[in-house]
Amino acid sequence: MTPQLSSVARTSIQRAGLSLIADKVVAGERLSMDEGVQLFHTPNLAAVGALANLVRERKHGDISWFNRNLHINATNVCEASCVFCSFARLEEGAPSAYTMSMEQAVGRIEALRDAFITEVHIVNGLHPGLPFSYYTDLLRAIKAARPDLHIKGFTAVEIHYYAHKYGMDYEGVIQALRQAGLDSMPGGGAEIFHERARKKLCPDKVDTQGWLEVHRTAHRLGMRTNCTMLFGSIERLEERVDHMVRLRELQDESLALQAQDPSRAAFQTFIPLKFHNENNRLARLSAPTGHDALRTIAVSRLMLDNIPHIKSYWVMLGQEIAQLSLSFGASDIDGTVREERIYHMAGAKTPQELTRSQLVTLIRAAGRIPVERDTLYNVVAEA
Ligand code: SF4
Repeated sequence: MTPQLSSVARTSIQRAGLSLIADKVVAGERLSMDEGVQLFHTPNLAAVGALANLVRERKHGDISWFNRNLHINATNVCEASCVFCSFARLEEGAPSAYTMSMEQAVGRIEALRDAFITEVHIVNGLHPGLPFSYYTDLLRAIKAARPDLHIKGFTAVEIHYYAHKYGMDYEGVIQALRQAGLDSMPGGGAEIFHERARKKLCPDKVDTQGWLEVHRTAHRLGMRTNCTMLFGSIERLEERVDHMVRLRELQDESLALQAQDPSRAAFQTFIPLKFHNENNRLARLSAPTGHDALRTIAVSRLMLDNIPHIKSYWVMLGQEIAQLSLSFGASDIDGTVREERIYHMAGAKTPQELTRSQLVTLIRAAGRIPVERDTLYNVVAEA
């Protein structure tokens, strides 16, 4: 049965002045930039959520995806100076700075030999002193230890940094990492594309054009990627919508090329990342509210009509908001996430890990059907 808006939701949408937008959503038409901004400004969150839920149920029914994964951040030494970052240390020897040896990194994989996981997620600081072979050796060592694991790794920020530092182009970096074992790319480092906010948040890492070009290149090479947006720091609501529209445009382009050549790829998932305000230079700001998080998830579901999945990353949002988000547009809550460091160093109070059965319980309690996936959204098991 095609999902419909309930009569209660219709009344709420009408009272919120969203009838024209609702007509477009029901007809499957694309929303404009101005309509995205209106969705952020309307006081009625429930009305926005009902529209996002309609789209979510059309795409995925009651299914809510999760996976079993491990995070490895091989080094937190980073020469960039993003003001929201609590993870990076400027140089080796600084308090809490670390760089894993191959043995340490692979030891983390080997420690899980008897645990079922399907993915390792690798993201690192921009270390000025490591050779490029550190990263290719890392990938080869992980693949040798666990050939069954899908390696999702290296943000566009890292790819851009390696290209400049080691004298390659984006294609050369991605191909070299792929030959060493990289399977897909995460979506980090997008932050906020709008130049006003980006200049303040992260003045010395890849710019917007570079971030988009890295993903364009990965898609051309047939590598699937994710995309993100950091919300709730200094950006304006209009800048959030602008960010979504720029992702939507690149996805249009990638999907059009993929239609001509199926070996190409595109974005799989959009992940709105909530700003955390501890241990960084934006500690004076309040952290975004649960209300803001739910609205951002809902608006992203409505604006990003060509990206299959919206993920609510429970590590950042908390389990309660992640659960609610499954009725506000999200269809994925990420995974067991063993050994997450980046957001816990920024004050995330969530556990270091959730078990499979905790994720299943969380999704079921939200009235959804949990389905375990691999990184590429193949079904591993219905729970
Ligand atoms: S966000 Fe990434 S690039 Fe920026 S300082 Fe932190 S680790 Fe470095």
